Amino acid sequence: MTKIAIIGPGAVGGTIAHDLLPTFTHLTLVGRQSQTITYTESTAPNTETIINVTAIDEFKDPVDILFIAVKIPQLDAVIQKSPNFIHEDTIIILAQNGTGQLSRIPHKHVFQAVVYISGQKRQQHITHFRDHQLILQNSPSTQQLQQLFSNTQLDITLVEDIDQSIWYKLLVNLAINTVTALSRQTAQVLKVEGIQTLCERLLQEGVKIAQAEGVIFHQDVISEIMTIYQGYPDHMGTSMYYDIIEGKPLEIAGIQGFLYQVARKHQLATPTLDTVYPLLSAQQQ
Ligand code: NAP
Repeated sequence: MTKIAIIGPGAVGGTIAHDLLPTFTHLTLVGRQSQTITYTESTAPNTETIINVTAIDEFKDPVDILFIAVKIPQLDAVIQKSPNFIHEDTIIILAQNGTGQLSRIPHKHVFQAVVYISGQKRQQHITHFRDHQLILQNSPSTQQLQQLFSNTQLDITLVEDIDQSIWYKLLVNLAINTVTALSRQTAQVLKVEGIQTLCERLLQEGVKIAQAEGVIFHQDVISEIMTIYQGYPDHMGTSMYYDIIEGKPLEIAGIQGFLYQVARKHQLATPTLDTVYPLLSAQQQ
């Protein structure tokens, strides 16, 4: 009997819970308070699944698998409480965007997932748009996980070089999150003169920082990411756009701030990042 907990009853955590609950009865979705949330597929708006959420302060049951699916600024509060729900062999999956946070979780079996789950939480309601995928480093623990979840909707994809996947997603997030958050506009901002050039400059600097860390991308990666952006519908917001509009803390520590620190470490010239990162930080004051 595998015990599983998911901390963070939001778009990502709620989707993971929805995908695993039919197979795993000993699964707890953990939030700030006890409540129920509803989950809907955007393609089937009339079908609702109700999921129970247990308050984090009431959850004191060590589990075998722990997903952490809160936003980066919310991570500290969860780490402080984590001794209540882990044992020595618990496998912890950090299901977040960005990187650089893993070292904050002092545990043996902790893995950064690259999250390809798209959804949105509004009040107590989650709408899932697309994808059910977590990408993880191939290892004996993650193979065990993949095997365990093989009959569920959650797709665990294992790769030999997780850094490549983490940095690719980081680059995709870097430019579009920056321009949508700073302009407080959805993807339509890409139509404003100069914004695509700004995105390209940020991506060029991101690729240079990745290279300094030993992560090498093929030469077309920037045009590939720009093509991804061009496929975004005008009305599409990014998570950083929604966070800034709603006055919530931004995940810059794991994206722009992380890259800024790595660039300093390698003494790289990153003038575009050096401009946008303080502007984003200033939004947090
Ligand atoms: P979200 O919808 O805001 O969900 C986070 C949940 O965690 C919220 O329900 C929040 O509660 C809860 N929470 C915060 N602090 C907590 C605490 N101390 N204890 C228990 N629960 C707590 O965020 P998300 O969209 O799922 O994003 C999670 C991560 O996945 C982020 O790093 C995000 O960038 C990444 N991601 C998201 C998507 C997407 O499409 N949504 C796609 C890829 C990656 P409150 O609402 O009360 O704050």
